[in-house]
Amino acid sequence: MATAVPSVHSLDQVAVQSLKRVGPKVAERLAKLGIQSVQDLLFHLPVRYQDRTRLVPVGALRPGMEALIEGEIRDAEIGAGRRRSLKVLVVDGDGDAILLRFFHFSTQQAASLKSGERLRCYGEVRQGPSSLEMIHPEYRLRREAEDETEAALTPIYPSTEGLQQATWRGLTEQALAQVSPLSPVDLLPPETLVQQGLPTLAEALRYLHRPPLEASLDALLERRHPAFLRLAFEEMVAHQVSLRRLRLTQRQAVAPVLRGDARLQTRLRAALPFALTAAQERVMAEIASDLSQPRPMQRLLQGDVGAGKTIVAALAALQALECGYQAALMAPTELLSEQHLRNLGAWLRPLGIEPLWLAGRHKGRERGERLEAIASGAARLIVGTHALFQDEVCFQALGLVIVDEQHRFGVHQRMKLREKGGRDGGSPHQLIMTATPIPRSLAMTFYADLDLSVIDALPPGRTPITTVAVPDTRRAEVMERVMSACAQGRQAYWVCTLIEESEVLECQAAEETARQLSEGLPGLRVGLVHGRLKAAERDAVMADFAAGALDLLVATTVIEVGVDVPNASLMIIENPERLGLAQLHQLRGRVGRGAVESHCLLLYHAPLSEVARERLAIIRGTTSGFEIAERDLAIRGAGEVLGTRQTGAIQLRVADPVRDSHLTAAAQQAADLVLARHAEAVDPLIARWLGVREVYGQV
Ligand code: ADP
Ligand code: MG
Repeated sequence: MATAVPSVHSLDQVAVQSLKRVGPKVAERLAKLGIQSVQDLLFHLPVRYQDRTRLVPVGALRPGMEALIEGEIRDAEIGAGRRRSLKVLVVDGDGDAILLRFFHFSTQQAASLKSGERLRCYGEVRQGPSSLEMIHPEYRLRREAEDETEAALTPIYPSTEGLQQATWRGLTEQALAQVSPLSPVDLLPPETLVQQGLPTLAEALRYLHRPPLEASLDALLERRHPAFLRLAFEEMVAHQVSLRRLRLTQRQAVAPVLRGDARLQTRLRAALPFALTAAQERVMAEIASDLSQPRPMQRLLQGDVGAGKTIVAALAALQALECGYQAALMAPTELLSEQHLRNLGAWLRPLGIEPLWLAGRHKGRERGERLEAIASGAARLIVGTHALFQDEVCFQALGLVIVDEQHRFGVHQRMKLREKGGRDGGSPHQLIMTATPIPRSLAMTFYADLDLSVIDALPPGRTPITTVAVPDTRRAEVMERVMSACAQGRQAYWVCTLIEESEVLECQAAEETARQLSEGLPGLRVGLVHGRLKAAERDAVMADFAAGALDLLVATTVIEVGVDVPNASLMIIENPERLGLAQLHQLRGRVGRGAVESHCLLLYHAPLSEVARERLAIIRGTTSGFEIAERDLAIRGAGEVLGTRQTGAIQLRVADPVRDSHLTAAAQQAADLVLARHAEAVDPLIARWLGVREVYGQV
């Protein structure tokens, strides 16, 4: 394999252990952050900078600022109060005062901070009860009026326990001394750098690690300085290159030609109580055409909650079955896979097709029988979770894989699916469905290896959901609402949200709420589901609710995706301010599935933060998932919207597809240029930004 990296003096080949003061302990701590080579160290960028280059007059301080100040101690005392603290009043040359506060201090420290001493300190300014304060500032006592300040902005590195900022500065200093025009290699084509007006890699790294005095802190912090963009751009190019190459490889794979005769599809369509919408027909045609090609389909089907993706999946599956191939449908949870099983079973049983379910609960002989049916081809349509990836599952002739709620499946899983090919060693077609609308800017960055289809309109006859925000002081009224809705034969959800990131506490809260509501709403049949119930128990409660045997379902956010009970027309969401927009939208999508008018009450706890207020206003103002996704992206950033934080799927280290979206198109062009004319840079680029495993497709 050609490579642009010269093997001698290449900083990605030089271990951090070669640096001074890196013993086994430090090396181990660095390794925890993924830093093994000197190059890794150089790509570990400061999160922010401190300006210790000048003294700020106390009179010019504002809350939130970090600043270097100097003054004389006017008063120092140990206050009792709610928490024992050492309070030191400092007054600068202009006579302006600020209070320093220490909650942890030694006797010796307290003794040294006495009236009359001069002090220079650095810290964050806060508004205290009666004056500006710094809590635990760094400080130094000054015996005489020396006049040294730092000569450059001070970089602050993301760190881990046991690695002090001073250590980071020492290490990066040594690493920078080794930077040369040859290493780290500049992997971007020179013409691209010129066109984009970006500095060379060496310049960019030097600038980011040691910004000169005149550097604009704002430009650095807001990540719009060209030095920063140089790295962000390279990372975006690396991702594009990797996804495009993946796509090219996939294009070369062979897939079964599934040109169905529509015999099964026609029968299903005829039996449906509704006609497909124009949007559903359009994406169905896109899928049908892909399936009839000898290359594996790689299609992402986006459609808002309730847009009707399942019927499209069923029709696509039938096209595979008509050609004598198997189809598999995977959902993110067992609960959802079971629901798919129910829906598909009801639609397909009249056609003589019995979907087979493979779940965690199938053990021992039963499991063996199911695996056998999949391997022999007795099972034509298989429904399950991502457990269908497991090695023990062998298909007789898998023609199509459908993945529901794909934002939980990363590129890696997508690639793994390819290996599940059936007969003739070909790859199955892939249809990936998501109810989380992905804004275009993100789709272009993250799904460059996929084709996109969008169901952009809901089926007719849906009554829009009315959403209102109600303070939790009016809980009693809200309970009345539940009572009267249920008295009219409707059903309701009561959603309890995450408290302090703890599932245990969340479940306890849900249990407590369920108890209170059953007491407060006599005569109502109240059910409870949460994440700590056994799957079978949870499913039993859900089934009761779906069958109308329960009026009110108290739930944690486990009901977020997929559950479909058209008679449920009222949803209460407690503490909606704790949830992101996408999650609120998904939750709310559980109602408004029937013809009756539905309501969603956001039972918030005052006072609301600015962001929370904004979120609730957005969710009240629109029911369009796409609009919500765009707004969500603006508020929360890409990682959250895609859910990649949790899954560890694609992670950008430096770039942010939203903030840097003005670079997306250029990054795509540069990726094409690299692939076409600088093939030697492809592997090093991917290795640098996505890791070596990715280069060889060992994912
Ligand atoms: P989602 O896209 O969220 O998975 P579903 O596939 O669960 O949505 O569809 C939601 C509901 O809409 C289901 O009850 C489904 O049967 C119904 N549905 C789907 N397509 C249509 C249509 N064209 N007209 C009327 N109802 C439809
Ligand atoms: Mg669905």
